[in-house]
Amino acid sequence: MPTFPQYLTPEQEEELRLVANAIVAPGKGILAADESTGTIGKRFASIKAENNEENRRRYRELLFASDKVVAENISGVILFHETLYQSTKAGVPFVKVLKEKGIIPGIKVDKGVVPLAGTDGESTTQGLDGLAERCAQYKKDGAQFAKWRCVLKIGAETPTFQAMLENANVLARYASICQQNGLVPIVEPEVLCDGDHDLYTAQKVTEQVLAFTYKALSDHHVYLEGTLLKPNMVTAGQSCSKKFTAEENAKATVLALSRTVPAAVPGITFLSGGQSEEDSTLNLNAINVFPGRKPWALTFSFGRALQASVLKAWQGKEENVKAAQEQLIRRAKANGLAALGQYKGGASGDAAGESLFVPKHTY
Ligand code: 13P
Repeated sequence: MPTFPQYLTPEQEEELRLVANAIVAPGKGILAADESTGTIGKRFASIKAENNEENRRRYRELLFASDKVVAENISGVILFHETLYQSTKAGVPFVKVLKEKGIIPGIKVDKGVVPLAGTDGESTTQGLDGLAERCAQYKKDGAQFAKWRCVLKIGAETPTFQAMLENANVLARYASICQQNGLVPIVEPEVLCDGDHDLYTAQKVTEQVLAFTYKALSDHHVYLEGTLLKPNMVTAGQSCSKKFTAEENAKATVLALSRTVPAAVPGITFLSGGQSEEDSTLNLNAINVFPGRKPWALTFSFGRALQASVLKAWQGKEENVKAAQEQLIRRAKANGLAALGQYKGGASGDAAGESLFVPKHTY
């Protein structure tokens, strides 16, 4: 008879389950503010702000010190290692600032994508070495959930079996290690929108990638009730000549998810993946309105689509902090409504309609 040793205690499982559910409470989602030093540099370049530690600190303070009303729609924030240990100008640790608002701090624990040799530009994600120790330390330092991003690309011959298997496996190992150390893993297998493929192709590839992912999570005994999924919304390739409506995207997304994501998973927190702020919100709303089988919460974990207008309003200047914070609150509110299927459009914002697409995006 096979034996399956219990590796999490009931108390550990309960803690993970409660955190995962709190993150996807109705009308709430995640602010992904975990840009690596290189990536935030690219964002700063767009507003001609220098990428130094003090500017990164000032910018993250702007985000986290926004009025507490933001916590009505933001339940969690994903931080980069440097940011987890930074403080406000007045010396209050960011972790404390967030917790006092009732916002759960999270941490990016992957160490970036690396090429899979011998493939047509496919990748895996590194960072498993020493991960248990890092997770244990992050947990002590206030993080309650983690993120790890894998990337798959659609091409004539991709994603390959090798890439789907490898990325699913590394996500499962990461998720297992997080849970053993008390962090809720956000599992992120991002199918990039680079390319001219149509909506149907994006749906089929997303289904395949998610099927590999959940087989691996099962093989590694990951406690699904204490996880969250962070997928791409299903949309046609960025350079596809045919345009699809939010309703069509929503149908393709819900079908792909309902065919592959177990009902035990409490929530799905979409990345924005280069869509404009307004498109991300409208698609999220359409997904929630779509009358399909949806046993999980469907909400946001946006990086670019929550920050583009903020950065534009800020311009690196102290006198613009308040106006920039208002942009964050406005987009958070719009996305909170979209997570309930109640967004009617028109939240606007300084960069609401701008494409945020970055070819072969790294994070
Ligand atoms: P975007 O919403 O900018 O795609 O980023 C979210 C994220 O955390 C990607 O890992």
